[in-house]
Amino acid sequence: MTTTDVRPAAQELPDQLFIGGEWRSGSAGTVTDLNPATEEVLAEVQAASAADVDAAVAAARAQLDGEWGALPGVERAKILHRVADLLERDADELARLEALDVGKPVGQPAMLDVPNAIATFRHFAGWADKITGQTIPTAGYFGRPTHSYTVREPVGVIGAITPWNTPLMIAAWKVAPALAAGNTVVVKPAEDAPLSTLHLARLLQEAGLPDGVVNVVPGRGDVAGTALTTHPGVDKISFTGSPEVGRAIQIAAADAFKRVTLELGGKSPQIVLADADVDAAVNGTAMGLFFNQGEVCAAGTRVLVHRSHYDRVVSGLAAAAEAQVVGDPFDAATTMGALVNAEQRDRVLSYVEAGRAEGATVVAGGGRPDGAGFFVEPTIVTGDNGMRIAQEEIFGPVGTVIPFDDPAEAVRIANDTRYGLAATIWTRDVGAAHTLAAQVRAGAVWVNGWAAIDPALPWGGMKSSGIGRELGWSGIVANTEEKTVTVVL
Ligand code: NAD
Repeated sequence: MTTTDVRPAAQELPDQLFIGGEWRSGSAGTVTDLNPATEEVLAEVQAASAADVDAAVAAARAQLDGEWGALPGVERAKILHRVADLLERDADELARLEALDVGKPVGQPAMLDVPNAIATFRHFAGWADKITGQTIPTAGYFGRPTHSYTVREPVGVIGAITPWNTPLMIAAWKVAPALAAGNTVVVKPAEDAPLSTLHLARLLQEAGLPDGVVNVVPGRGDVAGTALTTHPGVDKISFTGSPEVGRAIQIAAADAFKRVTLELGGKSPQIVLADADVDAAVNGTAMGLFFNQGEVCAAGTRVLVHRSHYDRVVSGLAAAAEAQVVGDPFDAATTMGALVNAEQRDRVLSYVEAGRAEGATVVAGGGRPDGAGFFVEPTIVTGDNGMRIAQEEIFGPVGTVIPFDDPAEAVRIANDTRYGLAATIWTRDVGAAHTLAAQVRAGAVWVNGWAAIDPALPWGGMKSSGIGRELGWSGIVANTEEKTVTVVL
């Protein structure tokens, strides 16, 4: 199968705004959506203006006091299960859309993005009728007994702003918990990959979600995104993207004390201890570098290796890089696709150059293949943790391998970064696993496996990797306000 065989007819692609249950044009022109593997135009997607965002927020607000606001959790759960059923029905099509729009090999969204989105809707369907409070004993009120309890209420209208790397999955991470808790949502997908989120909107409609509960406003970040973050009718922004935009959103949200959840980037360490299963570690660290072309917030881009294994891991990762099959996302042999756009490709290559200038050694890759498409070679460099390639998020298939002499040094290097999203530890020593898990400053620590994510597990970062947590019960907490009620008896 080739890209041309699977490309849906242009009129089938969802390319409009979804507001109040209606599909309509935007009033800010269009945004050109390219196929990263061919550089061909996939769609001219309608772009939302501030007025369009205003209409979407009005539709979402109306439902807080409307049919949706009155719906009990058990009924919300049924709708979320129906969405999961429809995602299952359309799983192949969604995987194809994601591969077309993002440039990733189609087997990857079929294996991760789509099943994870389905599991996320099912997980939060399970919570929808189980969001409980507490009864809390107190000392009483001026000598009179009291009965105090808490309830969790929806925050209100959630503005969800998503990136292009795993768009369906991240939209699901924001929409499913928001709906489970009774909120309404306006989603602003990324300019480069809005199609799967728009398809999700079709499925939400088909599942019987009342009009206006979820609205999707594709468009430019500085237009539609800014309109959403500054809108007085939005109670919370849930953002996944770069630290720079996250900072701007937090500042904009401060004006009205909007709640924010920020899921930002990372420069995650993968630590290979002296007692590690080295073959498993090489396979796992390679996956943490090259999966999704390295366009993963939790990519394990700093591979810290005990000096006794350093040469073996460097040559193993170089061999893994050379073994990657880079090319057509729809060829079953392909293991790595294209980066999302020309700017991202050039940014990645410029980091490799910066590494060379600082004295890093490129042991595999480092360039780009000839021909169309925003491809970059899988790249392994050796260097030290002070270099820009080891400190700044590259968001591409580039890993820096750094030696250490003892676990304390590994932890020091691991924590010597502005980021704190994830860390992987490769070891057969259960004591070392727990000790290092406690010492590494990261929102998620994985032992002997990279990216063991699950909708039941809280997700988010420390330091510049973000604020707040999504998923699991934490996702419900993030989408509710806690109210205390005291009755003086
Ligand atoms: P980005 O920050 O450029 O864009 C993310 C979203 O924000 C897009 O929808 C964009 O249109 C919008 N946006 C841009 N400017 C805006 C503004 N001024 N106001 C409001 N919205 C605005 O990020 P990206 O390039 O799409 O994604 C890559 C980044 O996302 C990387 O830094 C990566 O690490 C991060 N990321 C983090 C996670 C996580 O869970 N922590 C997951 C995936 C990606």
